[in-house]
Amino acid sequence: MTGKQTFTMIKPDAMANGDMGNIIQAITDAGFKCKALKLTQLQLNQAEAFYEIHNERPFYNDLCDFMSSGPIIAAILEKDNAVEDFRKLIGATDPLKADENTIRNRWGTSLSYNAVHGSDSDENAIRESNFFFSEIERLQ
Ligand code: ATP
Ligand code: MG
Repeated sequence: MTGKQTFTMIKPDAMANGDMGNIIQAITDAGFKCKALKLTQLQLNQAEAFYEIHNERPFYNDLCDFMSSGPIIAAILEKDNAVEDFRKLIGATDPLKADENTIRNRWGTSLSYNAVHGSDSDENAIRESNFFFSEIERLQ
C-alpha cells in the first residue's frame, strides 16, 4: 500500500525569488493538505546530514552549500498516493525538462536551482519528515 504522506522543501532559490506563496498555492490547489510547516534555515552540517544519501555524487558539496544558503520552508503533505503524486506535481529534476505547469517548470531555473524538493519514496518521506518535525509540530 502506498503512503498518504510526503515531505517537501521550498528551496532557497524560490524563497529568494519571492515564489513561496505561489508554490504553496499550487501545492494546495493540487489537493495536498499541510500536516506540518516551518520556516527555517539549515546549517551546512544539517544540509550534509539531510543529503547524506548523495554524499558520493559530484554535486554534493554544491548542493549542501546551496541548501544552507538561505531560508527554506519545510512541510509534511498529505494526500492519497502522496509521494508519487507530488513528484508528478513538481516535475523532472531539471526544470528545463519538466512538463509545463509543473512547479519546477514554473519556478525552477536550473538543475541546481529547481525550487522544490520532494521525497522519492515512502521510506524517505518518513525519514525526511522526522529530520525536521517532532510529534508536537504535526497535525494528527
Ligand atoms: P530532490 O531530492 O531535491 O527532490 P530529485 O529527487 O529530483 O530532487 P536528486 O537526484 O535527489 O533529484 O538530486 C537532489 C538535488 O541535487 C536535485 O534536486 C538537484 O538540485 C541537485 N542535482 C541533482 N543532479 C544534479 C547534477 N547532475 N548537477 C547539479 N545538481 C544536481
Ligand atoms: Mg531526491
